[in-house]
Amino acid sequence: MQATFSNSAREQRYLSLEDKYGAHNYHPLPVVLERGQGVHVWDVDGKRYYDFLSGYSAVNQGHCHPDIVAAMIEQAQQLTLTSRAFHSALLGEYAQFITAYFGYNKVLPMNTGVEAVETAIKLARRWGYDVKGIEANKAIIIVCSGNFHGRTSTVISFSSDPSARNGFGPYMEGFISIPFNDLNALSEALKSPNIAGFLVEPIQGEAGVVVPDEGYLTKAKQYCADANVLFIADEIQTGLSRTGKLLACDHENVRPDILILGKALSGGTMPVSAVLADDPIMLTIKPGEHGSTYGGSPLACKVAIAALTVLKKERMADNAEKMGELLRKKLEDLHSPHIKLIRGKGLLNAIVIEHKNADAAWDLCLAMKENGILAKPTHGDKIRLAPPLVIDAEQIEECVQLIGKSLSVLD
Ligand SMILES: *Cc1c(COP(=O)(O)O)cnc(C)c1O
Repeated sequence: MQATFSNSAREQRYLSLEDKYGAHNYHPLPVVLERGQGVHVWDVDGKRYYDFLSGYSAVNQGHCHPDIVAAMIEQAQQLTLTSRAFHSALLGEYAQFITAYFGYNKVLPMNTGVEAVETAIKLARRWGYDVKGIEANKAIIIVCSGNFHGRTSTVISFSSDPSARNGFGPYMEGFISIPFNDLNALSEALKSPNIAGFLVEPIQGEAGVVVPDEGYLTKAKQYCADANVLFIADEIQTGLSRTGKLLACDHENVRPDILILGKALSGGTMPVSAVLADDPIMLTIKPGEHGSTYGGSPLACKVAIAALTVLKKERMADNAEKMGELLRKKLEDLHSPHIKLIRGKGLLNAIVIEHKNADAAWDLCLAMKENGILAKPTHGDKIRLAPPLVIDAEQIEECVQLIGKSLSVLD
């Protein structure tokens, strides 16, 4: 059956404004939102939905968390930006707070996730030259196929997704790609003396929540250490309690040499990202060699402290662990012939849709929208299910019922 739903006149007006005046670089679900609270968002006609995307896991703490919003408002009335030309009363406090929180010597604050990835790449290269002694301009960073690390021209240079990459060349050199979850490929690639770092998502989010074998991260970290190569974890999507631990690497007690954070570092209020590392790595970059106007602004610092405090205070990792288990179990209990696979960790999950119609996942998301639950396909047949971490058991059960009801659109 073809899914046919229509938008209200009001929604249609906003959709056509975006279409007419906005660049066409996204293909959103046709829903127009204007309010959010906790696990819910409301559209312009007042209809309420469960948010099962959570801004790609930027809204782990729930929409408009009162503590984060209060911190933001307070600081917005005090001082928002100094630039790094001057010190602020907040940056030192934030740096002390976040380094103690994650257990690193130093933090380098940026704004968007991809800027933090770029920062980590520059750090790894610089460390490769200054500390490891790699010959000038020869440093290589190993990445994994199926990766998603953002959209800058450097980062898309090592993407394996044609739609991210094609037509945007020439590409940045100095990266080699190996299959994800393949330790033999890693140990083979690490044989080159020019490797500075291994950049990896502990679980590949955009690829459709691809969870590696248990032990992969531990072994990968060990191989890197043996080869004097930095293990760089992009925890922008997997971090901050999403997978049932503070970091996805914590599931294997792996401590990355460089840790990249973003998204939920501000609880979805503004772009705040960070790179954490110890002194021998971080201090290779000297004054004037890297930076950002907004990075580490008083506003960002205040918001990030609040966002991290809320995660621990409300034990969101524990809830993600429990609710994730419940979600996967209840989805399995549906015994739907249209669900080929259910996978994930904590509240970072995906279902893979089994259907001869290539648009089935999109049609299912439209049906779910009609039934009051918002999610989006990634890479065709996969739908990520990642609600805010404040969801409770009753809500999980209701949402699985709504998904079950929506699946009938594929019968
Ligand atoms: C979202 C994401 C990024 C990019 O973050 P932006 O804030 O969109 O630049 C990088 N890496 C991972 C794993 C992500 O999920």
